[in-house]
Amino acid sequence: MPRYILLVGPPGAGKGTQAKRLCQALGLLHVSSGDLFREHLKNQTELGKLAQSHIDRGELVPDDVTIAMVRERLQQEDAAAGAILDGFPRTLAQAKALDGLLEELGGGVDAVVNIQVSMTALVRRLTGRWMCRQAGHIYHQEFNPPRKPGVCDIDGSELYRRSDDTEQTVAKRFQVYLEQTAPLIKHYRSKGVVIDVNGEQKIGAVTAAVLDVLPGDVSP
Ligand code: ADP
Ligand code: ADP
Repeated sequence: MPRYILLVGPPGAGKGTQAKRLCQALGLLHVSSGDLFREHLKNQTELGKLAQSHIDRGELVPDDVTIAMVRERLQQEDAAAGAILDGFPRTLAQAKALDGLLEELGGGVDAVVNIQVSMTALVRRLTGRWMCRQAGHIYHQEFNPPRKPGVCDIDGSELYRRSDDTEQTVAKRFQVYLEQTAPLIKHYRSKGVVIDVNGEQKIGAVTAAVLDVLPGDVSP
């Protein structure tokens, strides 16, 4: 039966960072809606062009477009064993669509990891974030610096700053999170699958805390 773990939390909470580490530990595929959008932006697809204006304003991309994109990704062969979903769902409509989709795929939501970080820490994290061009590997100038400035340790590609990681857009994204995404946690809490994690610990300590409390059947 395929397994699905969701990572939720405000922008900068460490979803991408933890998703990559958890995927490695658990042998699951990483599916990040933000990365999928950035891939479309890079390739200048119609979807990419549509998403860009929303992303630049710090708003969510409309549900229908986002749901269709994630649906397509989860139906691919390499997702047959399940996935760690990072940044999706972000609205109640997306969560309900995901419930239906996972049922079609023969699985369900095993766990929702809720990464909690204060607003002050988020701004410091996002304004110091660097990302690699090739695969979206994530760094921080102070908290997780690359060995060589400006170069990805893993694939050697150039590091760049995301255009939506400005203080102003971060404030907007945080507001959008509180209004549209935080209510999701209640939806999943009622199903008993939420794992709350203190995201203000060292990166490795957050991963260990998550692995420690994940339901036994998702361990390798
Ligand atoms: P963060 O790292 O801040 O959590 P992401 O990389 O996940 O950001 O997303 C960047 C932007 O892409 C979001 O601000 C939003 O515009 C868009 N986006 C990503 N995921 C979704 C989603 N599930 N629904 C709607 N828009 C999304
Ligand atoms: P999200 O996907 O939730 O937006 P990221 O994983 O991209 O978050 O992390 C945001 C920034 O914070 C990155 O620069 C990352 O290196 C850094 N970061 C992630 N986790 C931690 C942590 N536990 N402590 C300090 N910095 C962190």
